Amino acid sequence: MYSNSDSNISERDALRKLFSFKHVYREQFDALVKIAPSIIAANAFVTIALAGFFWGTSGGTFALYWAVFSLIVNGASFINFRRATLLPISDEDLQFAAQIITLFSGLRGMIWASAFIFLLPQATADSALFLGWLVTGLMCAGFFAYISFPLAAVSFSGMVTFGGVMGLYLRLDSSNTVAAILISTLYLVLIKVAIVNGSAMRKRVRTERDLVSKTEVVSLLLKDFEEGSHSWLWEMGRDGTLIRGCDGFQKNLELKVSEIQGQSCSNILRNRAISSSQFYSITLFDELLTKQVAFAEHVVSVGEGETLKFIEISAKPVFDKSDVCIGWRGVASEVTFAKLAEMRVQFLALHDGLTGLQNRVSFQEHLGLALSPGALRDTWVMYLDLDGFKTINDTMGHAMGDKVLRCFADRLKDCINTGDLLARIGGDEFAILAHGPRLDIDLLWQKIVGTAATVFEIDGHSLHIGASIGIAEVRDAQISSDELMRQADLALYRAKSEGRGTARIFEHAMDRALEQRKFIERELRVALVREEFVLHYQPIYSFKNKKLLGYEALLRWEHREFGAVAPDVFVPIAEDAGLISELGSWVLHQACHDAMNWPKHVRIAVNVSSLQLKTKRFLAHVTSALAQSGLPASRLELELTESALIENYEMAGQMISDLKKLGVRIALDDFGTGYSSLAYLHQFQFDKIKIDRSFVQAYEARRESAAVVNAVLMLAKELGITTTAEGVETEAQFKALASRGCDQAQGFLLGRPQPLLNSSKTKRSA
Ligand code: C2E
Ligand code: CA
Ligand code: CA
Repeated sequence: MYSNSDSNISERDALRKLFSFKHVYREQFDALVKIAPSIIAANAFVTIALAGFFWGTSGGTFALYWAVFSLIVNGASFINFRRATLLPISDEDLQFAAQIITLFSGLRGMIWASAFIFLLPQATADSALFLGWLVTGLMCAGFFAYISFPLAAVSFSGMVTFGGVMGLYLRLDSSNTVAAILISTLYLVLIKVAIVNGSAMRKRVRTERDLVSKTEVVSLLLKDFEEGSHSWLWEMGRDGTLIRGCDGFQKNLELKVSEIQGQSCSNILRNRAISSSQFYSITLFDELLTKQVAFAEHVVSVGEGETLKFIEISAKPVFDKSDVCIGWRGVASEVTFAKLAEMRVQFLALHDGLTGLQNRVSFQEHLGLALSPGALRDTWVMYLDLDGFKTINDTMGHAMGDKVLRCFADRLKDCINTGDLLARIGGDEFAILAHGPRLDIDLLWQKIVGTAATVFEIDGHSLHIGASIGIAEVRDAQISSDELMRQADLALYRAKSEGRGTARIFEHAMDRALEQRKFIERELRVALVREEFVLHYQPIYSFKNKKLLGYEALLRWEHREFGAVAPDVFVPIAEDAGLISELGSWVLHQACHDAMNWPKHVRIAVNVSSLQLKTKRFLAHVTSALAQSGLPASRLELELTESALIENYEMAGQMISDLKKLGVRIALDDFGTGYSSLAYLHQFQFDKIKIDRSFVQAYEARRESAAVVNAVLMLAKELGITTTAEGVETEAQFKALASRGCDQAQGFLLGRPQPLLNSSKTKRSA
């Protein structure tokens, strides 16, 4: 592997060297051809001059023959020169041509040398001086005439020098010998000049060749680049017309040649750009060109629908010496696929995948923009939450839940006005950024509540949901989008707690209520540790014989600063804060523990929150409370509310059956305040139902209440369920219910909830 690639490299190097030598020869050759006529003419002239000078002297005859011979060689040189100019010499013949040139220059030098060797020894002092000058002149002039071809220069002046030196030497006089030595030294200097000049020339030629070959490689690479990719190079002239890269535009924009020719880059793009779907503006591209500064990766969208394309352009202006822009050079790429993918990712990042509406991130962004001071007036944030959606999701599956959400989103789209922004910001939560006066907003929320309450017909099912809405108004520019959302959320909370299917607009009183709530929550977290909770017990008696049957444990919070806090206040907060499971477990343990001090037939009833029932831990809490206290399961009664059963139907059913297996009794608390029928609730196999005190207290005054209570008592009797009347305050209530066959009574008439002072006191108070 290695040796192979190494040999490739050395082969390549050798080739390069050979080529560069050829290029040196070529350069020398070309230079020589240019000067050759002058050399030949000068040679002929000096030859004739020499013959003329010696005409009629003792060397005259020799000079004549010599001149004839010299002129013949000169003529041959001229023929060679003509041939070289008429028939260009190929690279392969260059070396041979170089040898011929060297040979001819040497030969010409030799001819001169022969003249000097023959004429100098016999010349008169005047002639010798003439010849001496001639030697030096030819030596130097010849050398410089041939300088472009150092080998020829050295061989010509070498021969001339040799002839001169020999001629002078043969005159056998010491002054001539000194001249001969001087001439030889001069020649050595010339050789040095030839060497230095030759290598400098070779270096220069090589550098030039390298540059050429690099340019060739770069242009080959560029060609490859254009052919193999979606990018192409383009160039625009001073007048803006495209002078390079037409193919690229034509191929990638699917244009005809006629649509490209003579057009400017921006015109080509503009002809293709269609304003309706212009994501990236062509105008901006024009602006960039006007600025005359380099820019990179500017995207222009062209075409529409099927023909939509994205072209990415980078460009650099070209300036002349006086800094005038004379055109542009750049790279263009067709980036449709990547751009569409990027846009899809951007869309997904800002939209909800299920409904196609904007998502929370996008809503927050728009809200942030809407909060700029200019856009303040009549801007509202609506926070929507579906009522009853969870039941559909739990009982009919998520696929159905998704369909309901999509359907509801479509209905919402029909409700809002143009310019309003609708977003899905979570499971069944939506938000609207609405604009308009209060009156319009009231109409809008009523429309939404109405449309949510309209039955949804999906896959043959008629589904009922509803919507609660919290609304916050943008009142000042300083408010943050987070704060606005919080206010709308708070108003939504209020709408929900005030009966759902309605809307509430945020007021600062809600904030104060929230502050208080937060404070209670913080205090609740430490109340268990501080042992601020106590249990009060309210007795439950038999109607028939007024015998004590049991106690209901009612939780009390004795706060060290603000005294007793009612369970109606803190239990819902403990539920929201996730503290109810721990608190409920404490109640269970304490109540079972206390009940152990009571007579064996006296039961203990403990209230259970719907959230407790949802946790698997609850069964373990009950088991542990019974085990730790030693209380028989049959003496423990758990009071559950209707909502706890309806909210998580299946899980509650399972939990109740597990509890019943332990031997614990189950009571349905506050019966009558919900909407479910007793027959439906009976599926949970209650041991007892507790009729809510609102019915008991209205028993005498309102006939409908009495009718409901009577019907419940009858039905319970039929189903074999024990009944307890809560909140019995008067003898009349007691008597009336006793006469209707109610089994048990609980209320202030019979005993208020009391703390246990100690175990004996508890028994006494009973
Ligand atoms: P509840 O389960 O309906 O409890 C009965 C409530 O009626 C008690 O209020 C009791 O003091 C009150 N009451 C009893 N007889 C009469 C009467 O003759 N007239 C009137 N006006 N009221 C009467 P309390 O103690 O304030 O408890 C309120 C609610 O707090 C309870 O309603 C129950 O839902 C919840 N609660 C109390 N303790 C606990 C507990 O340990 N766990 C959970 N989860 N909830 C609890
Ligand atoms: Ca209760
Ligand atoms: Ca109750």
